[in-house]
Amino acid sequence: MKADPAVQRRLLDLAEADADLNRVNHRRRTLPELEEIGQAEREVQARRDELVVAQTAFGDLDRENKRLENEIEQVRARERRDREMMTSGASAKQVEDLEHELQTLARRQGILEEELLEVMEQREASETNVTKSQEAVTAAEERLAEVRSRRDAALAELETAESRRRAERDLIVKSLPEGLAALYERVRQQRGIGAGPLQGSRCGACRIELDRTALAELRDAAADDVVRCEECGAILVRETGR
Ligand SMILES: [Zn+2]
Repeated sequence: MKADPAVQRRLLDLAEADADLNRVNHRRRTLPELEEIGQAEREVQARRDELVVAQTAFGDLDRENKRLENEIEQVRARERRDREMMTSGASAKQVEDLEHELQTLARRQGILEEELLEVMEQREASETNVTKSQEAVTAAEERLAEVRSRRDAALAELETAESRRRAERDLIVKSLPEGLAALYERVRQQRGIGAGPLQGSRCGACRIELDRTALAELRDAAADDVVRCEECGAILVRETGR
């Protein structure tokens, strides 16, 4: 294949554009925000789990609180009933029994009220815990949203850079003879790099020193011959004027 040396040099611009596009792709896959998002998501999950535990504990204490209040209310109702019975013509034996029961009820009420106080304290502490857990969930969710928006901004930036570079690349490709563009594309797809400059005796695509025979062949080739690196297959673009 033959191509004007000036046309061949455009292959180097094309290779540079492709290298930039590869870098954009690599950055997109390795954005630090991706790792941060993973961490933030795990953090949100952990805080939500803690909140569920805190809410469950609060629910248990709240039920216990209500149960004790109910029980105390029942004891009080019983006391009221006993007192009414005592003042409504009970016999001496009945009064004695009622007084005995009232003592028992008073003791029972004392025990229940102590229990209730303790449970109320625990319930209050537990409520504070729920509030704190909710705040921790909110804070974790805000961090996650913040990292996600940073990621989206970074992706949008890469998107812009990519479409600009891709447009430039398309222009270069259009300016090339079809056969040369097709060869470049084939080599790029097979080998990763489509073209590189000859730098001294080294291939700029694979960085390997060419042997004497290969170099001699390159020297003998006409300036408009399209030549390739024996090592990596890339189209070797030689400086003109040689
Ligand atoms: Zn090479």
